[in-house]
Amino acid sequence: ESFEDMCLHLSIMKDVTFRNYTTPTPIQAQALPVALSGRDLLGCAETGSGKTAAFSLPMIQHCLAQPPIRRGDGPLALVLAPTRELAQQIEKEVKAFSRSAEGFKTSIRSELRAGVEIVVATPGRFIDHLQQGNSSLSRVSYVVLDEADRMLDMGFEPQIREVMRSLPKKHQTLLFSATMPEEIEALAQEYLNKPVRVKV
Ligand code: AMP
Repeated sequence: ESFEDMCLHLSIMKDVTFRNYTTPTPIQAQALPVALSGRDLLGCAETGSGKTAAFSLPMIQHCLAQPPIRRGDGPLALVLAPTRELAQQIEKEVKAFSRSAEGFKTSIRSELRAGVEIVVATPGRFIDHLQQGNSSLSRVSYVVLDEADRMLDMGFEPQIREVMRSLPKKHQTLLFSATMPEEIEALAQEYLNKPVRVKV
């Protein structure tokens, strides 16, 4: 399958082409149709596989289909990642794929109050923002747990659970992990709704 076959929004396709992504990687070929269909996804993939675009393109597409956010609204999508470095890397990629999308903002820290479509953060940092009233889960309908095994290794399970149980009822969840230990299976069992499993 090619990117052209995925029915991506024209503005996203523009940015995909601009970045010289010509052929989807195996994880993208498998995950994009699933994520774009609105289903939950449990992905076993490592860094370097192209998983960032696999969850970012459907995330941007999802956000473009929502009523616009207004000042004071929380984000439409949330990506949780184990480290600040990874969060920054993901944010960069999301920015690159939403260049052409009119008025689209993504943030890991600043301007949260002004309203951003997508927040990328570590679980600890995001919970701080929630507690300080700088962000909210009330409009989040697309959630990504990236490198979930590393997040658990780093002790973020309580924060992840807090976020997952506080989400609005209707939401889509994508969980990516390089390994699938019992703890990840349990988390997926609890918080994902009939996930499609993808492995590369
Ligand atoms: P990731 O696993 O998401 O960190 O991606 C690894 C690297 O591959 C990043 O530098 C991406 O920009 C690049 N990449 C991901 N998907 C593609 C693609 N379909 N075509 C070309 N480069 C890609």
